Formats: sequence, C-alpha cells, structure tokens
Amino acid sequence: MREGKLTNRYARQILDAARQVIGPEAWVLALKGAGLERYQEKLPPANPEPGVTFAEISAFCQRIREHLGSEGGRTLRQIGHQVFRRDVEAYGWVANLIRLVTSFLQAPGERVYSALQRGANVVRLETGSAPHVWREGAHFYWENPSCPYCVEITCAEPCCDLPAGVLEALVAWVLERPVETVRVIEESCRGSGASACRYRIEW
Ligand SMILES: [Zn+2]
Repeated sequence: MREGKLTNRYARQILDAARQVIGPEAWVLALKGAGLERYQEKLPPANPEPGVTFAEISAFCQRIREHLGSEGGRTLRQIGHQVFRRDVEAYGWVANLIRLVTSFLQAPGERVYSALQRGANVVRLETGSAPHVWREGAHFYWENPSCPYCVEITCAEPCCDLPAGVLEALVAWVLERPVETVRVIEESCRGSGASACRYRIEW
C-alpha cells in the first residue's frame, strides 16, 4: 500500500488556516519541524494531486502542539474551524443550498447525521482515508481507522484536535449555532495506542 497523502488542495487549506491562526513565525517553525519547508514561500497548488504525506501533516500538528504547550489542543481546534470555513467558501453555493434544504426538511439529528456523512465523503476523496459515521440514539460517532493526523505520533492523551475542530465547525454550521455549543470528544486515538481515532459528537 502506498503511503497516505493529502491532496494538494486539502493540504493547502490546512496550511493556510494554520498560518492565519498561529501567525507566520510559529508557522514557519512548524513547517520546518515537519519537513514541509518547501511550502514556506508558496502553498501547495489548489489541485487534486496527492502532495503532503500523512506523516508530514501529523508532524506539523505535533510541532504546533509542542510549541503552544497547554494551548496546543485548543489552537489546533481553532485551525480546524478555519479549515471548515475555507471548505464552505470553496463550495459556497452548494453548501448553502444543502443547509437551506436540510433546515426545512429534517430534525437536528437528521441534519447532523447527513452532514457528517457528506463530510466523510469529502475526507475519503481528499485523503484516501476511510472514516465512518454512525449514531446510537442521541449520540453521533465519527471513527477513522486510517486517520491522517497521528501517523508516527505517540501521545499520552488523544491528540487529533485538528479534525475534531473541523467536526465542531461542521456540526455548528449545519445546526446554525455558535461553535462553542458543540462538543466533540475524542474517545480514542491511534496516537495513544487505539486501533482508530473515534469522536463522540454532542450539542
Ligand atoms: Zn488520529
């Protein structure tokens, strides 16, 4: 199996969002620490070719976490919020149409479930990893056994906060609520020895 890679356009959104949230100096340090200095002057192009490896994007997130200490997890979630904002802009009118239609037709749980499934399709397309989504009563779950963000990473506590932030922003967006009212709890993480990164989503 070839090494997992993100598409250039997906990596571009993550790197661009990170620069906005942590500022250019910390950003350059994180790029260098992850072997991504080739993007310092010019972000990856907005095309669907594979580019950044899972190990590289994992190291990039880990450098940010180390650099920011106790604020690292929260900052990675903020980067995730910005990544989602870019996704909505990139697919503007389609995204808004989806929200409009689902808001008329569906109860909140149905809207969230549908949005998570659409999100999983995007992640499959842009990373080749295979998240799956399910619900148990009022609880919603997202699990990725080939998570791109914790490859060659060891963490004592679950540490995939960037994708958690994307999920927070996605659920808040479809419910038309502030992102602070959505909780995404990472219940298990491959970085801390589990077989998959699993999130429980509540609001
Ligand atoms: Zn992970």
